[in-house]
Amino acid sequence: PLITRGEAIGALTVQSDKPQAFSQADIAVMQTMADQLAIAIGNARLYAAAQEAQRAAEVANQAKSEFLSSMSHELRTPLNGILGYAQILKRDKDLTALQRNGLNIIQQSGEHLLTLINDILDLSKIEARKLELYPTDFNLLDFIEGVAGILRIRTQEKDIGFTLDTVPPLPEAIQADEKRLRQVLINLLTNAVKFTDRGSITFRIQEIESPRTTDTIKVLRFAISDTGVGIASEQLDRIFEPFEQTEAGKRQAEGTGLGLAISRRIVRLMESELQVESQVGVGSTFWFDV
Ligand code: ADP
Repeated sequence: PLITRGEAIGALTVQSDKPQAFSQADIAVMQTMADQLAIAIGNARLYAAAQEAQRAAEVANQAKSEFLSSMSHELRTPLNGILGYAQILKRDKDLTALQRNGLNIIQQSGEHLLTLINDILDLSKIEARKLELYPTDFNLLDFIEGVAGILRIRTQEKDIGFTLDTVPPLPEAIQADEKRLRQVLINLLTNAVKFTDRGSITFRIQEIESPRTTDTIKVLRFAISDTGVGIASEQLDRIFEPFEQTEAGKRQAEGTGLGLAISRRIVRLMESELQVESQVGVGSTFWFDV
């Protein structure tokens, strides 16, 4: 018998027309062969089943990503109508305080929903491997100033410090996907502001020596440090997973726990890795080299 995992899956038969053709030793050899055959067939079946399961999982994942992507698209159209009309109605000078307050809430909730939808769309695009980078040449310092400008306003509102530290020498122009690089930096900087109540945020850009450095390729480090709540070491890995937030993250009304998951994937598309160092109560630094 061919027996695998205690189950008979077949038989090995050997015939001869001579009487007493097989000795005990022959039979022992046959049995060993049958055992080996059973193992080989069992393994081949397991392998085929595993491959089929993997293929099914990939198809399901693809279907999920396509569903999310088309849903996000469908949701954005009516949402833009809501946001647009909230904005138009707010221009009316005769609004009562109650009405104005209501319109502000419609607008803020709508904007939050839009961020969420955009994040989900990005994530599903990345999962479906449909997110691609479109690098162009642009001026580095202008770009950084633009990003810093947005953040300066937010730090002023919260009354915390903001330092832009561009360490010379820096290249004048760089080649990158400007939109995606900005998305990652704004996400990291917004987090820094969100999780810092006193002290300051530092945004540092410097050239570093790297194995990838050549005459024409410079490697830049973008680092964002804060003096905020910090992240416990056992949570450092988890925060990069979609929808993972620390207690401090959950307490914040804004935020969905998608920002870091998206940023990490974009940074990986740029062939780099998003890194973090943090100490609870002292602050955090997020950085990547591109
Ligand atoms: P969100 O900010 O929308 O919650 P993110 O993916 O950007 O989502 O971040 C995930 C979580 O990581 C946050 O909820 C927070 O718990 C933690 N985190 C991110 N950045 C910081 C930071 N600079 N300081 C402290 N915690 C942070």
